[in-house]
Amino acid sequence: MVAGWIPGTHRWWRLLVLGLLLFLPWRAMPQSAGQLEAAWTAARPGDTPAGVLAAFDRGELHAFDPASMTRILDPGQAAWVVLRPLPSPLAEERALTIEPPPLTPVTLYERGESPRRLALDDFDAPLHGHGRLAWRIPAEAAPSAPILLRFEADAAGTAPLRFELRPWSDYLRADASWLMFSSACFAVMLAMAAFALCLALMLRDATFAWYAGYVFCYGAIQGIHTGYVFHPMEWAWLAGTAQLAAPSAALLSLAFAAVFVARFCDLQRFAPALHAATLALALGAPPLVLMRSSHVDALIAPARALHYPMLLIGAVLLLCAGVVAAVRGSRSARYFLLGFTPLLALTVLDSAQANGALPGMDWLDDAALAAGAVQAIVLSLGLADRALAMRHDTDVVRELADVDALTRVLNRRALGENLQAAMACHGEPIALLFLDLDCFKTLNDSLGHQAGDAALAAVAAALSHELRPQDLLGRHGGEEFLAVLRGAELPQAIHVATRLCRRVHRLEIPVDGRQQLLTVSIGVTMRRSDDTVETLIERADHAMYRAKLEGRNRVRVDEKLVCRARERTAVRSVREES
Ligand code: GH3
Ligand code: MG
Ligand code: MG
Repeated sequence: MVAGWIPGTHRWWRLLVLGLLLFLPWRAMPQSAGQLEAAWTAARPGDTPAGVLAAFDRGELHAFDPASMTRILDPGQAAWVVLRPLPSPLAEERALTIEPPPLTPVTLYERGESPRRLALDDFDAPLHGHGRLAWRIPAEAAPSAPILLRFEADAAGTAPLRFELRPWSDYLRADASWLMFSSACFAVMLAMAAFALCLALMLRDATFAWYAGYVFCYGAIQGIHTGYVFHPMEWAWLAGTAQLAAPSAALLSLAFAAVFVARFCDLQRFAPALHAATLALALGAPPLVLMRSSHVDALIAPARALHYPMLLIGAVLLLCAGVVAAVRGSRSARYFLLGFTPLLALTVLDSAQANGALPGMDWLDDAALAAGAVQAIVLSLGLADRALAMRHDTDVVRELADVDALTRVLNRRALGENLQAAMACHGEPIALLFLDLDCFKTLNDSLGHQAGDAALAAVAAALSHELRPQDLLGRHGGEEFLAVLRGAELPQAIHVATRLCRRVHRLEIPVDGRQQLLTVSIGVTMRRSDDTVETLIERADHAMYRAKLEGRNRVRVDEKLVCRARERTAVRSVREES
């Protein structure tokens, strides 16, 4: 059942398996955390590092598992974290990491050392880590000496964090593999967004541009959230903007996604009730971005309060719209659901984690990155599918515009254009045949208009059959046809015209109730260097008229051609005689 529902299902499963294969090796890397004891407390004015450490020793801080995702920072609240490595005989160089990297500065206090402050958007610090904040703990530091961290307040609060203390060599391996994994994900997203932009320009369809905007914003969210835009990208111009840029990118991605879904899934047709709501969602997001970036507290507070509800409602609305459109037959909606559902599931899990649930799921951030790349690939395939459908529609429209509905040969306009194009190629002989069915009015009058139509269609099919693929056949009007023979000299053209004449007669289409059969009169001419389409057709028409006058069912050649040929023969014989 599933196989019938999802376009080319077996291929999709392969794609998902490939995504997992890319993702799992990275998760399977040894994440050998050192064993740590940890506790946190909210910072109060007048706190000193020594005082916090003493409180830790007295057991007054909130103990937590540093390997689990723990929320320690409430909005607007600074905090202290104390980490004590469990006794270890090894005195080796280690790395302390915080994952994901918080957007506000963190200061490390070690006994006897000067504090080391680290911020994602500080480009002077010797080491930051990638996808995490990292400090190098020298081998000389006592292996089980407590480490104190101070987190500065973040107006929006900070996502749950996890802490690791591991040997330096392990850290370097994990850091390199994360860099490889995240670079691949971002490269895929960027490539897909660029691909969509190219398609938007080539196909002049804004749907692709909305999609590109969406993927770009999603990449920006991930780039800021993981710190990738700061390290390794080192985009110093983003310094100090992360707290505003991340939520703005989230809201804009929702707006882009809403317009994209409305167009891509054709909600107007497949889910009209949700179409207006989706567009309202798209219109509602940018004002929240503006409110949040204004420096007016009265605007910033409601914008902050509305941020998560808006994202949640938006995601659910888009999912519902996709489901309804898919159930009602939108093929594109199925692509959308395939790409969007894992992302939505991860967003829900992530929100649950931000509220204290699922502390063990430390892979959610990496999964969101991988899901972004997989989604970009799936939706790009959906867009390619749409591009193919558009191309098919254009081909159908072009064919309908060029083809005569009754006889299925070129109509007058298309034949004129094709003849013009053929005549632009100088030096190549072009023969034109003007065909007019004989006594067709009699056929109509005696056997009816329908019989007349059927005769026209049968004649056109027979004529097409007799011609070469490179020849053109068109309906000039009524019961008149034109045949253009490219590369044919006069004798060949006369030969073909005679064949066509016989072929029509052999169709044995009765003209009236008696013995008379349908025939055709044909005028033949050759293109001359000074010819236009009109003059060429006019001479062929004259030749056809002579065929009519001389008794119909015959081929006659343009008189002027015949005169010229005679003149040439006469000149040649005079030369030969002299
Ligand atoms: P001639 O041998 O001199 O060419 O005589 P004719 O009757 O073929 O020529 P005439 O120009 O007097 O009549 C052409 C007829 O073709 C008249 C018109 O009703 C008919 N005709 C034109 N287009 C169509 C069409 O699409 N379907 C049908 N059934 N008849 C058509
Ligand atoms: Mg006619
Ligand atoms: Mg006729």
